[in-house]
Amino acid sequence: MQELTHYINGEHVKGTSGRFADVFNPATGEVQAKVPLANTAELEKAVEIAAAAQPAWAAVNPQRRARVMMRFVALLNRDMDKLAEALSREHGKTLPDAAGDVQRGLEVVEYCIGAPQMLKGDYTDSAGPGIDMYSMRQALGVTAGITPFNFPAMIPMWMFAPAIVCGNAFILKPSERDPSVPLMLAELMEEAGLPKGILQVVNGDKEAVDAILYNDTIQSIGFVGSTPIAEYIYGTGCSQGKRVQCFGGAKNHMIIMPDADMDQAADALLGAGYGAAGERCMAISVAVPVGDETADRLIEKLAPKVEALKVGPYTSGNDVDYGPVVTGAAKENILNLVESGVKDGAKLVVDGRDFSLQGYEDGFFVGAHLFDHVTTDMDIYKKEIFGPVLSTVRAQSYEEAIGMAMDHEYGNGTAIFTRDGDTARDFANRINIGMVGINVPIPVPLAYHTFGGWKKSVFGDLNQHGPDAFKFYTRTKTVTSRWPSGIKEGGEFSIPVME
Ligand code: NAD
Repeated sequence: MQELTHYINGEHVKGTSGRFADVFNPATGEVQAKVPLANTAELEKAVEIAAAAQPAWAAVNPQRRARVMMRFVALLNRDMDKLAEALSREHGKTLPDAAGDVQRGLEVVEYCIGAPQMLKGDYTDSAGPGIDMYSMRQALGVTAGITPFNFPAMIPMWMFAPAIVCGNAFILKPSERDPSVPLMLAELMEEAGLPKGILQVVNGDKEAVDAILYNDTIQSIGFVGSTPIAEYIYGTGCSQGKRVQCFGGAKNHMIIMPDADMDQAADALLGAGYGAAGERCMAISVAVPVGDETADRLIEKLAPKVEALKVGPYTSGNDVDYGPVVTGAAKENILNLVESGVKDGAKLVVDGRDFSLQGYEDGFFVGAHLFDHVTTDMDIYKKEIFGPVLSTVRAQSYEEAIGMAMDHEYGNGTAIFTRDGDTARDFANRINIGMVGINVPIPVPLAYHTFGGWKKSVFGDLNQHGPDAFKFYTRTKTVTSRWPSGIKEGGEFSIPVME
């Protein structure tokens, strides 16, 4: 049995806490490795090393720090296949989807190569008589990130690339479900020229997270995961005086207007609802056709496509639409929610409950499910299912449809399919959700924009990547300077105003 490690001060280090978690191969259900779960002492050791290494890294000029990112991009491209394979083996997603996971992270690293521009600050010449004023963005010190299982390459890179290029040290606590790719990324950053101790990986569970929350040296915490944990980390981290940004769960609605291209809408729902087995925070999990006639046409087009989805292990290459879910517990939770939907009276148009894959009977595969006639009081509507289950809630008008999306507690992403510009514009303006697609089902912003939801999908002010990341990972310092020859008056007792 493979025993995974932490990555501390440039070395793979065995866990000393004596506690481990199983890392499964979701396709076979077998335990393929054990990952150590750090205790407080192990986390504190990593923080000490980070704190000692960080000032020298912050003193490296931004251009040189950006060059490490340039080399890292080249190494990610060199090792793309290896990274994708390791990612699929622990997560279960298909190989092309795993490569996409790495690619979307890589694009954030590319954006971070612009750090010299992003960090150059502001300057006002002659803000007053003989007085100049300038603002600098300085690194925070030691920063930390806690990441979910569903994007084990992209989300760590969302965080550590901007943190590090800004001159911080970063401690990554990845998901204990798929920790191998984060460890590989840390190795590649050092191969790219990053000094030891600036990026460390501490594997663990709640104990390691609490050690991060209560550590006085750590200045900021980034979190992505489920909403209850996001709320806990945001509340506790803020009470400890840290800068915190937390991203939580989702229930993304796609509204289908009567004038939409129904073939296009059905294809969009297929990829957005079932891709990565629905384990995406930007997956569409609720389809809202407007009018019964639209709903009937949609279901008629969608149901055969859902029935024909190919489910299998990543080793089947491009011949698979989606793979297993991440654990047996996740599978059980999804199937329990499906049962609750049936019990509550929703119509299960495509029933994947009996799905089983020959040769992979112990794998965590879940067949595709499509519900119609779901109502907003049902658990399958209210809760995040995070599986290959799409719920259709019929609305009788556009107002009812937009109101439904607006009333849901989550506000990560949403989409509208229509040919009408007025409706699309009204939707984009009024909706209280952070990422909006118009005839685009998964509107994930590119690296140079920012990523983030509203409502219970986010806690904190600044989004991931884009310009917000440079704000989150730096503090502003503003200097007002006047040289002695300019000081001609005596003491000044009222607040200075520059006239
Ligand atoms: P999770 O909340 O179970 O775990 C996320 C991280 O928190 C992991 O590193 C885990 O070790 C840690 N953790 C788990 N329980 C903890 C506890 N009790 N105390 C402290 N830390 C704890 O989430 P997950 O299952 O890994 O990921 C799926 C969730 O993430 C979904 O809800 C999904 O919507 C969400 N997600 C959100 C976004 C976004 O940008 N909004 C992106 C990806 C995933």
